[in-house]
Formats: sequence, structure tokens, C-alpha cells
Amino acid sequence: MDRLRKRQIRFSVIYLIAGIFVLYLFQLLVAAPPVRRLAYSEFLAAVRAGELAEVNITSRELVGRLKDEPAKQRGARLIAATRLPGIDETPLVRELEAQNVKLTGTIEARSWWTDLLLWSFPLLLLFLLYGYGMWRVGQGPGGPLSLGKARAKIQDESSRNEVKFSDVAGVDEAKTELVEIVDFLKNPQKYQKLGGRIPKGVLLVGPPGTGKTLLAKAVAGEADVPFFSISGSEFVELFVGMGAARVRDLFEQAKQKAPCIVFIDEIDAIGKARSAGRGAVFGHDEREQTLNQLLVEMDGFDSTKGVVIMAATNTPEVLDPALLRAGRFDRQVVVDRPDLKGREEILQVHARKVKLAENVDLHTIAARTPGMVGADLANIINEAALLAARRGAEEVEQRDLEEAIDRVMLGLEKKSRCMSAEEKQRVAYHEAGHALVALSVEHADPVHRVSIIPRSIGALGHILQLPTQERYLLTKPELEDRIAVMLGGRGAEDIIYDGVVSTGASDDLQRASELARQMVTQFGMSEELGTLTYGVPAHQRFLAGPFAEAARNYSERTAQLIDEEVRRIIDSAYARVRKILRQRHEDLKRVTAELVRKETLERAELEALVGVPAPMAAAARKAPEERC
Ligand code: ADP
Ligand code: MG
Ligand code: ZN
Repeated sequence: MDRLRKRQIRFSVIYLIAGIFVLYLFQLLVAAPPVRRLAYSEFLAAVRAGELAEVNITSRELVGRLKDEPAKQRGARLIAATRLPGIDETPLVRELEAQNVKLTGTIEARSWWTDLLLWSFPLLLLFLLYGYGMWRVGQGPGGPLSLGKARAKIQDESSRNEVKFSDVAGVDEAKTELVEIVDFLKNPQKYQKLGGRIPKGVLLVGPPGTGKTLLAKAVAGEADVPFFSISGSEFVELFVGMGAARVRDLFEQAKQKAPCIVFIDEIDAIGKARSAGRGAVFGHDEREQTLNQLLVEMDGFDSTKGVVIMAATNTPEVLDPALLRAGRFDRQVVVDRPDLKGREEILQVHARKVKLAENVDLHTIAARTPGMVGADLANIINEAALLAARRGAEEVEQRDLEEAIDRVMLGLEKKSRCMSAEEKQRVAYHEAGHALVALSVEHADPVHRVSIIPRSIGALGHILQLPTQERYLLTKPELEDRIAVMLGGRGAEDIIYDGVVSTGASDDLQRASELARQMVTQFGMSEELGTLTYGVPAHQRFLAGPFAEAARNYSERTAQLIDEEVRRIIDSAYARVRKILRQRHEDLKRVTAELVRKETLERAELEALVGVPAPMAAAARKAPEERC
């Protein structure tokens, strides 16, 4: 940071000097001895008064030198006036002749060297700046413009990285796969004796935040070897050709430090399939060169030296097949979202760093956070610690953790929004509508809370539904029920205010439409359109290049059918919502009144008001089992 500032200062100083130089040159070129400018008539008067000793007539002006009279010594001795266009100056010349004034003339033509200077100066300036930039570039690594050297962060030998496998939890399969790598790095001879080929490249694949980077570090930590890490996007910077140079440099360093681990984070930034985007407006030459160089380097060194390349990505499907073939990243380790047990373990790992109260039950917390990844869970523990600290408590308690979950899931509570009573009422109806539909349809997740306190930007309230168990698949009726819950808010407004609806439902509608469209185009859930997919799924869209239209692989007629089907799904869900809410009109009013009063209703309060929904009571009887 400090260095950057210094550079900036130096840079601006150089600009300043250049600017002053320019001004000085202009001064030299343009400025002349001081001249007093007069109007033409004043000049004539001066001539008539006989004050002039000499007059020089140029193509544009008259310049006169005053006679050397002591009285006139103070001001400028030259006076000038612009000639009047098209005026006959013969009388003036006669007058001057009569007074015996010395008469000269100048035809103004800029000398060739002035022209040359004026032309070449800007070029020269550009050239100097360019040269300066190049010189800066040549100053070696470290600076903002430094190129040529990979800025691979090398773990300092003295403070070897401390991450161990015990710091990573909930990804047991991945760990068992990586144990072998650790063993190889520790005693390579053991493997070489038998002539086996150790994998060169290990690709960690999984959603963001599941601990891929952490795992790579842990492998280095366990094996106690240096860890070179660089992010894919760091390769592709600034100038064409530099990415390839960086790859070369990275591998050079790694070979010297073997055994070691080279870790390329977010490899998709360089590893995208090479055909992608070809012929598009911006070519991807730079990325392709970098990728090619990476492929070459991976082929070029032999793994017996003890260099293992690890890489991480969350979009393996976009990677170039050449990267994944045997001999390169042939080993793929999936780092998936943790399950219930995994989440509990991750929570325990992070809870080591904070002081937990006796009553804390991490199992409950894990059960309440399906779908969350390691990074989220780490965040929850941290938030809880902060909340406890704010309370001034000694230990982190269960309620801190619960509140932390809400924060991580829904964002901060945005209290104290000033709303008119009328709007508040409407928001309450809206949220109560969501909640009641969720309580009425068969497949909705239980409603844990309904509130008219906004928790995300743009929203005016929220309902919190939590699944009873982890879901990996969703059936068609479940999706339809989801859509119904999303439409519940609008439905309630529609019924209560007699069709006078508000803008409050736009986000719900958007999500519902998107889901319905996916049902039709991606999940094959429409009888009309059959079990086909339409269009290119988002993660493959890059193949179609920047022209989105190419992502459409169906006819106009199908497009129309899709629209109709989406419409039908939404319409039938909405009809169902209206029916439910009309039947439970009284409940809707009761929940709304209570919501306006209390702002937030927890599950128990809600159930006390409207009763436990039948399907849920049934579900509660047959307790969910987790089996694999
Ligand atoms: P990724 O690289 O997969 O996006 P990271 O490895 O950067 O995720 O994880 C970010 C942080 O989340 C880690 O520093 C760690 O604190 C936490 N974390 C993620 N996964 C786990 C896990 N499986 N066990 C423990 N902590 C985890
Ligand atoms: Mg990462
Ligand atoms: Zn809503």
C-alpha cells in the first residue's frame, strides 16, 4: 500500500515536470518582447501625432516602434494593431513616408524548424511516456505493473502452514482420497520402487465455500511441504503473453522446491474450454495461451520429482477436456456440501476457537442449517461470538447461535423502518398469505417464522421456512407447492384488497416464474412439451458465445408453447392459492392482526393461532430418518 502511494507520487511528479517543460517551450516559441496592443484608430492617431520611429507591416498587423523620447520610456516601446481587412492603406503609407518613418514588412511564414518542433513534440512526449512505462515494467516483480514473474505466494519456510486435516471436517471422502497424496509427498521412494505413476494433478471440485482451498492447504500442511498458490485469474492480467510466462515461472520455482504442492485456485478462469468464444468480439487468445502453457508444463515435468499440482473449481463442466485427460488433472476429488453429521463436525472445528456455554447444542444448529457449506458455518460461529460479545456475555450461548443463523441466512435485521399503518397492514397481509399457504399445502417446508421486519434489501417482510430433512431431489408436486407459497403474498393482497394489488410481490413473482420455466424447459415436467430440455442451461451458455440468441435451440412455435405452459403452471398455482386463502379468510385476518401487533410470529405462536397443519402433524408422527 505504502509502496503504491510512493509510486503514485513519483508518477505525478514526472507528469508535473513534463507539463512545466511544455509550457516553457511554448513560451519560447510564441512570446515576444512586450507589445502594447491598440485599436486601429489609436494606432492611426499615434502615426498622425508623429510618435513613431519605425513601422513594420506584417500580413496581419501593424507594429510600430515609438521614438526614443525619454517621456515615453516607461511603457512598452512597441505598439501593435490588427490591420483592417480589405482597407486601402495607401494613405497611411503616404503619411508614414511624409513623416520619414522607417517602413519595413514581414511575410509571416513559420520557419521549418518551428513546424517540425510543433509536430514532433506530442509524439516525443508519447514516446517518452511509453518508454517510462516500459522501463517501469522492467523493474521486476512487486509493482502494480510488474510482469513476467509469477506472483505465486510461497509459504514461508519458517512459518510452514499450520492447516491440518483436523481443521477440515465433513468432507471425509475427499480426505481419504488426499491421504494418498500426502503419503506420496512424504515418502516418494516408496511409490517409485514399484514403478507406479503418481497422479500429477488433483482437481478439487465442489460448490463455493465447501473447503477446497482449505483442503489443499491441509494437504501441504500434513505433508509438511511448501505450498505455492496462485489464483487462475492472476494469470490473466494486463498484457498478452504474460499469463504463459507466469505459468512457466511458477513451475520453475516449484521444481526447485520439490517436493511441494502447486495450487491453482479457481482454475476455471484459465481452464475454460478453448473453443469457447472463438470468433467473438474479444478473442480469448491470452487465456488460451496461458492454458496451453499450463498443459505443456504439466506434460513436461515428471511427477517422480515430487511436485503435485492441485487445482480447485466449482464449475468443472466448463473446463477444457485436455486439462482433464490422464496425465494431467486425471484425479478429481469431489468436495460436496456437508450433510447433517458433517455440518456438526464443521461447527465443532470452528467452535474450538470460541468459548461455548454448557447448554450449546451444535447438533440442533447443524439440523437447522441444511444446504449450508463450511464457509457459512464458520461465519455462523463467528457471528455468534460477535453477538455474545455485544451482549457483554462471557460465553456464546445457544440463542446467539440461533440469531447468527438468521443473520447468515437472511441478512441483518433492518429494524426501524418507518411505514404508514396502511402499508404495514398490507405487508402483514402479504406475509400472512405466504405463511398460510405454506401451512395449507401438502409439501411445503414448515414455517418457522413470519415477520414484517425486512431482512433483505428490497423486501418488506420475510417468512422463514426450514426443511425437516436434507433434500436432493424435488418432485413435481413439491415444486408446484413451492410456487404456490411464493404466490401466497400476492394472493392475500388480491383477496383482501379486492384486486387492488401492489408492487410488493414483484420478487415473489419473478422467482415463481423462473421456477415454473425451469420445470418446463429443464426438468421435463410439462406434458405438453414432453420430457425434453429446451435451451442451453446457464452453465453451458458460454459455449454459445456472447450472442445469447444462439442459446436457443428450439423453434418459435416451441417458444410460444413454453410460454403458455409456464403461464398455465403459474395460473393453476395461483388459483389454488386464492382458493386456500378464501377458505381461510378468518385465519388470514387473525394472523395479520397479530403480525401487525407483534411484527414477528414464531412457529409456536403461529400454530397457536391457526392450528397445526394436518400434513405436518402426519409428518411429525413418522419421524424423518436419515439413511444413506
Ligand atoms: P472454497 O475454496 O471451497 O470456496 P474455502 O476453502 O476457501 O472454500 O473455505 C472458506 C472458509 O470456510 C475456510 O477458511 C474455513 O474457515 C471454512 N470452511 C469451509 N469448508 C470447511 C470445512 N469442510 N471444514 C472446516 N472449515 C471449513
Ligand atoms: Mg477457494
Ligand atoms: Zn412476498
